[in-house]
Amino acid sequence: KAKVDGRGRFVFFEPALHEAAQARRALEFDLRAALALGQFEVFYQPKLHLLKNRLSGFEALIRWRHPVRGLVPPDLFIPLAEEVGLIARIGEWVLRAACEEAARWPGGLGVAVNVAPSQFYTGTLVPTVTAALAASGLPGHRLELEITETALLRDGAEVLRQLTALKALGVRIALDDFGTGYSSLTQLRSFPFDRVKIDRSFADDAVVVRAVAALGTSLGMGVTAEGVETADQLRRLREDGCTEAQGYHLSRPVPASDVPGIIGRYVNASDMEESSP
Ligand code: C2E
Ligand code: MG
Ligand code: MG
Ligand code: MG
Repeated sequence: KAKVDGRGRFVFFEPALHEAAQARRALEFDLRAALALGQFEVFYQPKLHLLKNRLSGFEALIRWRHPVRGLVPPDLFIPLAEEVGLIARIGEWVLRAACEEAARWPGGLGVAVNVAPSQFYTGTLVPTVTAALAASGLPGHRLELEITETALLRDGAEVLRQLTALKALGVRIALDDFGTGYSSLTQLRSFPFDRVKIDRSFADDAVVVRAVAALGTSLGMGVTAEGVETADQLRRLREDGCTEAQGYHLSRPVPASDVPGIIGRYVNASDMEESSP
């Protein structure tokens, strides 16, 4: 299978390519079966409201419990699911599962669900969200959808139409991973975002954090810092104007069964804070 490249060297690229394609097909095959076999799970990561100093809700993060590969993170299969046209069905499953779970949480805690860019182009997003809210009984204002800038690229007018329909249901919209994509300030203004989430790569960049926090706040948005890993970062992000924080320092994403424990811990923690002199 060896070929000679321009400089007369042997390059063994074909077997590697072949193996990669085969691994991909195997993954696609498994992915198609995963929904039917019930192998997906939703983990939840708490978000802390920095002004009220209390839990504001949880972000839903999908996991795939593969019988051989173990717990597979979303970055390893969501892009493939988009490519092979499975994202609408997986997205619908996550929305239904997350809304049902959140409907059981006390105190009006919200849930944030990630929406892949191509979900805006299957024509199913608005009906799916409507159905998930109706089936779970979760009020629309307790659901937030997280979208990335990539979603806005293809047909911004179509995305805006759907976001407007979703907002009419009371659903909130967050711009995820801000600063990593083709972010422009215009996009932040042209779409009805309720929140901007500053990508975790900026957690230590005070200049960027302050600028985005000031801009988001003046546009009436919540400003979330992602990827907060230390107490020191949390203190600085709070000082620099973020209104919400999320990250391993507060908690890693946990299975649904661990959510009540986290809620209890935070309720007790803020009670203690309030009652201390
Ligand atoms: P994201 O929406 O930006 O989610 C945050 C990611 O950062 C999560 O990775 C989370 O576990 C991780 N993270 C949270 N705190 C920290 C921290 O302090 N340090 C570090 N290093 N990482 C932190 P995860 O769960 O692997 O998800 C990766 C991405 O996959 C998500 O990024 C989102 O874009 C996508 N994703 C997850 N669930 C879904 C889903 O249900 N649907 C779609 N379409 N995409 C999803
Ligand atoms: Mg997200
Ligand atoms: Mg993010
Ligand atoms: Mg991300």
